[in-house]
Amino acid sequence: MGITRKTKSVKALLEVFEGCNAAMSTTALIEKFKHQMNRSTVYRILERLEDDGTLHSFIGKDGLKWYAPYTSEQQEELGLHPHFQCEDCGKTECLPISIQIPEVEAYNINTASILLTGKCKDCED
Ligand SMILES: [Zn+2]
Ligand SMILES: [Zn+2]
Repeated sequence: MGITRKTKSVKALLEVFEGCNAAMSTTALIEKFKHQMNRSTVYRILERLEDDGTLHSFIGKDGLKWYAPYTSEQQEELGLHPHFQCEDCGKTECLPISIQIPEVEAYNINTASILLTGKCKDCED
């Protein structure tokens, strides 16, 4: 947990992520809290929670920004990891493996984003 001051709004957002390791899209979060806070408040809180290391973000296949919590120290240690998005139910989660950024001569690579898509355990039949 980071240093972000736990206002009522911050708490409400954090509760969404508690006890589940699935990611939430910004659009879904804005929709969920539309009666409690406006769009820019949701964006601001998400940015703060990402800055202090509570959440991390990635871009899903629909171009939306998704947020997921660091649920354990183990996951935080993973650092760079791929994300999985189910083509059927849309469930999106962190995968518990690390990615090594390859070294490419003459390129200074800082980060990588890998999105894997397919069917999740629940949809695979
Ligand atoms: Zn699924
Ligand atoms: Zn993740």
